[in-house]
Amino acid sequence: MIDISTLKNKDIVEKMANYEKVFWLNPNVGSAPCPFGIEEINDAEARLARFAPFILKAFPDTAETMGIIESPLKEIPEMKKALTKMTGDFPGKLYLKMDSHLKVSGSVKARGGIYEVLKLAEKIAMEAGMLKETDDYSILLEDRFRELFGKYSVQVGSTGNLGLSIGIISAKLGFKVTVHMSADARQWKKDLLRSKGVTVIEYPQDYQVAVAEGRKASAGDPLCHFVDDEGSEDLFFGYSVAAKRIIPQFEEAGIVVDENNPLYVYIPCGVGGAPGGVAFGLKTIFGDNVHIYFAEPTHSPCMTLALVTGLNAKICCADIGLDGKTAADGLACGRASYLVADLMTPIVEGCYTLQDEELYPFLAALKDTEGIFIEPSSTASFIGPALVNKPGTHILWATGGSMVPQEEADVYYNKGKA
Ligand SMILES: *Cc1c(COP(=O)(O)O)cnc(C)c1O
Repeated sequence: MIDISTLKNKDIVEKMANYEKVFWLNPNVGSAPCPFGIEEINDAEARLARFAPFILKAFPDTAETMGIIESPLKEIPEMKKALTKMTGDFPGKLYLKMDSHLKVSGSVKARGGIYEVLKLAEKIAMEAGMLKETDDYSILLEDRFRELFGKYSVQVGSTGNLGLSIGIISAKLGFKVTVHMSADARQWKKDLLRSKGVTVIEYPQDYQVAVAEGRKASAGDPLCHFVDDEGSEDLFFGYSVAAKRIIPQFEEAGIVVDENNPLYVYIPCGVGGAPGGVAFGLKTIFGDNVHIYFAEPTHSPCMTLALVTGLNAKICCADIGLDGKTAADGLACGRASYLVADLMTPIVEGCYTLQDEELYPFLAALKDTEGIFIEPSSTASFIGPALVNKPGTHILWATGGSMVPQEEADVYYNKGKA
């Protein structure tokens, strides 16, 4: 435990320690340049384009987008009406970015997670002299590559969705893959992974323990790649590609982003990689005209705590006595990513927290008004537009849900209606 009275913004931290909701605006926006820029995003985008023929062949349900794993941006006017009643009014149109419906693994992790494993596979295949950038990457499905990748293993610690992404893509390529799952992980995710030949190790403890165990199990093995959710640049750049791909979607929807038409984006945050990567990408492209907010549960607000105190990854939720227990399983991370907390300090506009009970009514309302189901973690952002309450385009970034089994989806929905 830490003496809260010694911390920066101790009044806010005191509220957080009591599981109260907070809304914090970041005074450090724009205070430092980002060490990364458009080159890193372009590089990741080009790599994903090289892999498109492979993805298309390996996952035929990506045919509509020709092997590019991308999600729709949808205006949700009926949900806007419902949200206005639930949280208060706000000016401007409301959109849903449906990373909840990304193909292959059904969550935002289909961006960063899959990207990191593809990058690894490309490096190994090129070093073996078996692949060139100009090749048709669908050759990676041939047995000779499976044999090559079979000599290597991939490990990751996860609350569920990252494990799902890493497990599915690694198994498809032929890597030996082990997913270290925290207690929050849903049974169906473990079952699905095991059905694909992934080794799933379960821990009765939280996400930090699962990551630490994965790191330990991988250490010292040159043929093992550990996907480090607390500090991976590859994950981060994989997520950032979303920002480039949204440009044509804005054109198609008639969305203008400029001085007079600001963009507000609200993203649920766990360890920070996914929202951080998206935020970095959007900020690199839209600059001062985009304002990004992170949303977290009151029981596990690791990034809010990191940024509010300025201690970044040097403080964790347990330090202020929080139990970390939340129905937003994808956000159940006790300590922010050291990479992302530092990078977000001058980028994120603000952070807010909400109570678990608020997640389900939003989930049910989205289903009722727009016919779209997303998982509880995904609705953490929904109080944002009314909190910010500024004129502009508002995007709720939905982060997961399309692969949740129907029975489980019904349980969530019914909780929201009760
Ligand atoms: C992982 C995840 C997030 C947050 O991503 P982080 O990289 O952990 O911050 C949000 N929502 C869902 C559904 C997720 O699976």
